[in-house]
Amino acid sequence: MQLTPYGAAGDVTGSAYLLETSEARVLVDFGMFQGNRETEAKNIVPDGLRVRELHAVILTHGHLDHCGRLPLLARRGYPGHIHCTSATRDMAHLVLNDAARIMESDYERKCRKAKKKGYKVCRDDAPLYDADDVEDTIRKMRPVDYGRPIEVATGITATFYEAGHMLGSASVMLEIVEGTSSRRVLFSGDIGPTGLPFLRDPEPPTMADVVIMESTYGDRIHRNLGDTIDEFAHILDMARQQRGRVLIPAFAIGRTQQLLYHFAELFSSGRVEPMPIYMDSPMGIEATHIYERHPELFDDETLAVSKSGKFTLMLRNVHATHSREESQAINRVRPPFILIAGSGMATAGRILHHMRLYLDDPTTHVVIVGYQARGSLGRKLVDKQEVVSVLGDKIRVQAQVHTLGGFSAHAGQDELLAWHRNVVRPGARTILTHGEDEAREMLASKIEQETGQRPLLPTYEQLIQL
Ligand SMILES: [Zn+2]
Repeated sequence: MQLTPYGAAGDVTGSAYLLETSEARVLVDFGMFQGNRETEAKNIVPDGLRVRELHAVILTHGHLDHCGRLPLLARRGYPGHIHCTSATRDMAHLVLNDAARIMESDYERKCRKAKKKGYKVCRDDAPLYDADDVEDTIRKMRPVDYGRPIEVATGITATFYEAGHMLGSASVMLEIVEGTSSRRVLFSGDIGPTGLPFLRDPEPPTMADVVIMESTYGDRIHRNLGDTIDEFAHILDMARQQRGRVLIPAFAIGRTQQLLYHFAELFSSGRVEPMPIYMDSPMGIEATHIYERHPELFDDETLAVSKSGKFTLMLRNVHATHSREESQAINRVRPPFILIAGSGMATAGRILHHMRLYLDDPTTHVVIVGYQARGSLGRKLVDKQEVVSVLGDKIRVQAQVHTLGGFSAHAGQDELLAWHRNVVRPGARTILTHGEDEAREMLASKIEQETGQRPLLPTYEQLIQL
């Protein structure tokens, strides 16, 4: 039995793991690489994947860095199914359509620019796939229930467990029988923190022989949510006093609903005076409807807020902008206001247009609420880079940049260790992925201290014998 990572090995994006036994070949996730140009050049189908010989694909959750390359499989004639929860299918549908749309509009913009300046647009800039490929991909998806084992390929049974990271997210246990031996191989997917609104806490399985585990925040313990909300309230007050704009690069799914929930709480309790919220995302509202369709996945706290009607009331004060014209019209709105737009790491999408206009304004507050991969504009802002390039323009950053780790949808180091302690059987093997090297080194040494076993930190395409 062997495993090959085709992404998220030494960085956080592009999750993809090929598992091969003597009888079956199964791919777990096939995510997009996000960050700078060099990183994004890795958005290919690696030769080693042999798409037509794959027996099954398993998708842990609907974030782009886990599902973003799946349409490339459809394009290459992948014949089988993609197994995921039904909420993940809904999410992936939105996410992939949005990605296709963004790639198309980016390409059109580059072509217009190239035409104006009289040069040829680069072939590498062409969209990776289109809406038809996305539809083909969604048709291959087969919804599975949490906790119910299904045979996905000869000798391989998969069971999905709540990962608490986004609606529908899962850790997936594969029970693999080869001849007379059997192994339990667990893919963590992305692991959520405990106590986030909406989401249930992770409910992982036990007794794994091998665990392939994310390590995004392997070197950090998050501030608690209460302190984070206090800091958030303070930022909103400052923005109001300065008549500034609050720009939040956030993914339309998951983080956006979480933020709306916090706004609802802050405004309705009177802690912060209400101000307009612009959800500048064609899919933000759609995603919120998906949440409304899956209350069975909510935690008790959110069910209570949802029943009280506060959340629905709150949504009436949110201005959702669909068309490009509506988006541009936000430029004429007098601040203070809050603007949420994708992409979550400011690598593409409408947030870039707002950043190009307002990053040089000292009354602008940029609030970073999620992980920012190396090379992304979001990361450059977090790292306090003085001059950044946005849509081809060089901009001196005067805006105030706030990083709020407590809103993270990823478990911190302490929660990762607790999760790990729960799932492994004595002597189990741990393989750390989905983290930059500093983070996974740190988590590896903590795990080694606890178990006496040194985790493996694989590189891209490294063949691992299990
Ligand atoms: Zn994720």
